[in-house]
Amino acid sequence: MSSVSPIQIPSRLPLLLTHEGVLLPGSTMRTSVDSARNLQLVRNRLLKGTSLQSTILGVIPNTPDPASDAQDLPPLHRIGTAALAVQVVGSNWPKPHYTLLITGLCRFQIVQVLKEKPYPIAEVEQLDRLEEFPSTCKMREELGELSEQFYKYAVQLVEMLDMSVPAVAKLRRLLDSLPREALPDILTSIIRTSNKEKLQVIAIRPIRRITHISGTLEDEDEDEDNDDIVMLEKKIQTSSMPEQAHKVCVKEIKRLKKMPQSMPEYALTRNYLELMVELPWNKSTTDRLDIRAARILLDNDHYAMEKLKKRVLEYLAVRQLKNNLKGPILCFVGPPGVGKTSVGRSVAKTLGREFHRIALGGVCDQSDIRGHRRTYVGSMPGRIINGLKTVGVNNPVFLLDEVDKLGKSLQGDPAAALLEVLDPEQNHNFTDHYLNVAFDLSQVLFIATANTTATIPAALLDRMEIIQVPGYTQEEKIEIAHRHLIPKQLEQHGLTPQQIQIPQVTTLDIITRYTREAGVRSLDRKLGAICRAVAVKVAEGQHKEAKLDRSDVTEREGCREHILEDEKPESISDTTDLALPPEMPILIDFHALKDILGPPMYEMEVSQRLSQPGVAIGLAWTPLGGEIMFVEASRMDGEGQLTLTGQLGDVMKESAHLAISWLRSNAKKYQLTNAFGSFDLLDNTDIHLHFPAGAVTKDGPSAGVTIVTCLASLFSGRLVRSDVAMTGEITLRGLVLPVGGIKDKVLAAHRAGLKQVIIPRRNEKDLEGIPGNVRQDLSFVTASCLDEVLNAAFDGGFTVKTRPGLLNSKL
Ligand code: ADP
Repeated sequence: MSSVSPIQIPSRLPLLLTHEGVLLPGSTMRTSVDSARNLQLVRNRLLKGTSLQSTILGVIPNTPDPASDAQDLPPLHRIGTAALAVQVVGSNWPKPHYTLLITGLCRFQIVQVLKEKPYPIAEVEQLDRLEEFPSTCKMREELGELSEQFYKYAVQLVEMLDMSVPAVAKLRRLLDSLPREALPDILTSIIRTSNKEKLQVIAIRPIRRITHISGTLEDEDEDEDNDDIVMLEKKIQTSSMPEQAHKVCVKEIKRLKKMPQSMPEYALTRNYLELMVELPWNKSTTDRLDIRAARILLDNDHYAMEKLKKRVLEYLAVRQLKNNLKGPILCFVGPPGVGKTSVGRSVAKTLGREFHRIALGGVCDQSDIRGHRRTYVGSMPGRIINGLKTVGVNNPVFLLDEVDKLGKSLQGDPAAALLEVLDPEQNHNFTDHYLNVAFDLSQVLFIATANTTATIPAALLDRMEIIQVPGYTQEEKIEIAHRHLIPKQLEQHGLTPQQIQIPQVTTLDIITRYTREAGVRSLDRKLGAICRAVAVKVAEGQHKEAKLDRSDVTEREGCREHILEDEKPESISDTTDLALPPEMPILIDFHALKDILGPPMYEMEVSQRLSQPGVAIGLAWTPLGGEIMFVEASRMDGEGQLTLTGQLGDVMKESAHLAISWLRSNAKKYQLTNAFGSFDLLDNTDIHLHFPAGAVTKDGPSAGVTIVTCLASLFSGRLVRSDVAMTGEITLRGLVLPVGGIKDKVLAAHRAGLKQVIIPRRNEKDLEGIPGNVRQDLSFVTASCLDEVLNAAFDGGFTVKTRPGLLNSKL
C-alpha cells in the first residue's frame, strides 16, 4: 500500500461550492463559476496568488441552490475533494463568469468552517492518507486482495470494448500504470454514474469503496444492452431447445459477450441468438379434432365445393385414426379465388392449429426456403423457419401457396429444398442454412395450392395428392356472395343490412357484367367497392342528419315527402338521399352499380363480335379456369400464306394447319370458295387467323373445331350462331377427338351467357360432373366428326344435304 496518496494538502482550504458535477480524486472536471462567493474566491485565490498552495481548493459538491447568492452559507457536505485548478478562463458575457479546469487530488473532511465571507474558508483534514489505511496486517491483506480483484475486473470490462478505439486502448494502459487504490475513483468517473452515486463514493471509506464500486460496475454491466445479453443468456439456459442447438447457443453467447458492440458481427450474432431462443422448439398447440364439428365448420365457412370438403374430412379422419402425418401432402388445384386458401385456413381452425401462408409464387432461390448462411451481412433464415417464428408453435398448418409458380435460377432449385421440407423421412432434421442446426418439422401440417399441375415439379407432384377445385357456376357465386362475401364486407366496412341492400339481381349483374372469372375474387372486390361507396354516403348522411336535427327540420320533412312521391328507396346516385333518415337502407340497383363501378365491362360482347362471318367462339382451359375464346379469320389477296396472331402455342398452329387442309379438301362438298370463286381456297389468297384477348397461352389442340368453324364461316359468308361455343381436337380426316377440362369450359360458356356447347362425343361422360342448373341452361351437342360440328354451329345446319336450295342453284 505504499502508493497511497503522497500528496500533502494545506490544513486550511478555500471552499469552492460546485453544483454541476462531483469531482473525484484522479479525475478532471470543468466547472463554471458565477456565484458571487465563487467569483470572489477565483479572483482572490487564483488570479492574484502565484504559489501552488494558493491554487489548491477544497471542492464541495453542492446541490443547486436557487438562492446561491444568498448571504448565508448553505449546509455543506462534510467530505469533499481537494483540487488543483489547472486552468481559469474568464468572460464578461452574458454576465461575468469563469470556467475552471480542476483536477481532483484527494479527499478531505471539513473540521470547522473558519470564515464564511466573502468566500468560505475551512480547517480541513486530509483523508486517504497512508496512516489512515487499515492498521492490522489482516485488513491490509484484504485490501490488497480486493484491489487486485478490482483491477482484474476493470481490465475485463475494458477489454470488452473495442480496442481499436484509441481512447479505449489508452484506458487499458492507464489501468496498468495507475496505483490500484486509485482505480475505484477513476473508474467511477469514467462510467456513466449519477452525481448521487458519486457523492456516495466520495463519502465511503477505502475497503467499502472497492466493494461498493464493484457493485456499481456490475450494475453497469447489466445496463441496457448488457441487460439484454443477460436476459438472452437466461433464456438460452431455460429454453427447451435440443441439445445440439443449446450447445451452439452457449458457444455463441460466450463469443457475443467478448465482442465489441460496434462490430457488425455483434448484431449478427445477437439476432441469431434472439431467433434461436424465440423459435418454438418444443412449443405446440394441442390438436383437437372432432370430425362432426369439422364438417359443420367447413360447411359453415364454405358454400358448395362438396368434393373438396369431403376429401378434406377423409384426410382429417385418417390422420386422427393413424395419429401421424405421414402420407401425401394435400394439394388443392384450381383457378384463383375458388376458396383454396380459405379451406386451408378452416383445416387449421378445426384442428385448433395456427395457420400460416407461405407464398411461393416467383420464388427461384433455394435460400428463400432454406435461408442464407450466416456469413453474409443481412443473411436471414428461410421462409419455413420464419413462419415458425411468426406462429410461435412447431405444429402449425403451413399453406404452401402457388407451388406451381416456383422458379429456378443459378441460386439453386427451390423445389429440391421444398422436397426436403415435405419429406417425412427427412423433415424431422430440417437444417436451415441460417440456423445451421436441425429443426424438427415433422409436426407441421403442410397443404399446397396451385392453379395447375402442369408446372409443379415432378418430384414434388409425386409427394402430393391432387384435389381439383373447379370454378363456380353463377348460381353458386350468388349464394357465396350472399351467404359469405356480402356479410363479411358489411362487417369490414362497419355497415349493417339496415343501411345497405344488395338484391340478388344486382349480384348477378356484377357477376355477368363486371367480372369474368372462375372464382369469386373480383366479385368480392367489387362488393368491397360498393361497400366503400355506401359507407361514405352513410357517414355523410349521418353528418347531414345531425346538422338537420339541429337547424332545419322543415327541410328534412321536405326530403321525406320527396321520397314518398318517388315511392322507391333511393339509389346511391340520388344526391337527395344524403338527408335520408338512417333507417332507410341504400338499395344497390343497376343504376347505383353503374355509378360506383362504372359502365359494365362485358356487355353484349358476344353477339356484337359474331355479327360478321369469320368469327367463332371456342372454349379454352387455362390455369385460371375455363375461358371463352374468340377465333377470328380474314382473307385477302396473296399467295396462299397463313398468318397466325395472338397468344399461341405450337399445338394451336398445328390445329390451324389441319383445319385449313381439311376445309380445302372438303371445299367442294360444302361449296366453299375464295374471293375469286375458286374451290382452291388458298389460290391467290392469304388467310389471317387471330386469337384475341388473353395473356395466357392457350396451348392445346382443343381449338381445332373452332378454327374449322370460323374458316367455314369465312369462306361460306355465313354467320356462326352467336350463342354457341365449342371445343374439340380434329384429325386430318375430319374426326373430332376428346379434350380435357370440359367442366371448366362448360362453366365458362355458361358464365358468358351462351346457350349451346358442342363437345366431342367421347367427352359425354364428363357432363356428369356439371351442376344440374348449368345443364338445364345449356344444350349440349356431342360430335364425333366435323360435319356434326358445323351442322350445330350454323342456323339451319351446314351440310349441303340440308340446304337443297343452294345445291340446286349450283346444278
Ligand atoms: P384461392 O386461395 O383459391 O385463390 P381464396 O381462398 O383466397 O381463394 O378465396 C377468395 C375469397 O373467396 C375468400 O374470401 C374466400 O373466403 C371466398 N370464397 C371462395 N370460395 C368460397 C366458398 N365456396 N364459400 C365461401 N366463401 C368462399
